[in-house]
Amino acid sequence: MRIEDLDLGRSWTAKLLANTALTPPEAREEVRELLLEAGDEERDFRAGQSVAVSVAGPHEFGQQAHVRLYTVARIPAELGPGRFTLCVRRCTFLDPYSGERFPGIASNYLCDLKAGSTLSLAGPVGLPFLIPNDPWTPLLIVGLGTGIAPFRAMLRELFDERDWRGKVMLFHGARTGLETVYSGDVAELSERAAAFSPVAVVSPRPAWGDQEDLGAAIHAHQEEVWQLLGESEVHVYLAGLNWVGEQFDKALAEAAGSAEAWAARKEALKNAGRWTSLLY
Ligand SMILES: Cc1cc2nc3c(=O)[nH]c(=O)nc-3n(C[C@H](O)[C@H](O)[C@H](O)COP(=O)(O)OP(=O)(O)OC[C@H]3O[C@@H](n4cnc5c(N)ncnc54)[C@H](O)[C@@H]3O)c2cc1C
Repeated sequence: MRIEDLDLGRSWTAKLLANTALTPPEAREEVRELLLEAGDEERDFRAGQSVAVSVAGPHEFGQQAHVRLYTVARIPAELGPGRFTLCVRRCTFLDPYSGERFPGIASNYLCDLKAGSTLSLAGPVGLPFLIPNDPWTPLLIVGLGTGIAPFRAMLRELFDERDWRGKVMLFHGARTGLETVYSGDVAELSERAAAFSPVAVVSPRPAWGDQEDLGAAIHAHQEEVWQLLGESEVHVYLAGLNWVGEQFDKALAEAAGSAEAWAARKEALKNAGRWTSLLY
């Protein structure tokens, strides 16, 4: 999804009701949850859709408004009309020459915003993550880092409202357990829903800045994953940074025996409308 391709003409104002840290102060990364209320009308957000946040300029490189997308994590069905949450990771970028750290504009703006402030948004944009009608459908879900945002709402719907019976395998996590968000929801659901099977993924070397090792986690559960992918009605959902998709493809190519075999299986899932991804 490219920002240039979006229709951001009709912006609207939201009010920030609360801005809460999801990660503890000692975590190396900060992720915050923003509870927002759409100002003028009820908006119908669906799990998997995103809103565009516009930060007024001028900015350092001359752009007037800096626009970035954030996925809706909780939806009005859970919070009440017009209310929704975003799950935002504070981004900083390292200049490889000077060694200086620069704050990302939109993520820092959001993480520092005080309750009571208003902000300019557009959307929602993007296709929602649709849940199949048949509650026996098996689901394979990968949501690492802030990629878990759309799945929190989805998992709540599956188990709180729809009494889901099909197997639901979730790979979730962050570099360390401290940075893993919504793990309370995941633990609570896995205690009461027999069909839910979460796998926590962390980095083997967080001190070196290594990413979560999704490949190793899939490898450790290879038989289970491959069996799930072999089910005729399985649906696959992926969200997070682009490398999540790359690691997933690499691990599944190994399980399938070759990159070509996995590409063919993935294509079949896409053609059948059983593959949804939101990678950024
Ligand atoms: C569909 C979609 C959904 C998304 N959902 C979420 C979500 O739910 N949660 C979430 O946290 N994020 C999400 N993102 C990512 C988010 O949109 C932003 O990309 C992210 O927060 C960084 O934006 P920023 O404005 O903070 O950083 P920016 O200011 O845009 O910086 C981004 C880039 O600029 C470079 N840069 C920045 N400052 C400097 C500098 N001074 N010198 C040199 N280079 C510099 C960096 O290399 C970096 O690549 C999503 C993205 C997409 C496309």
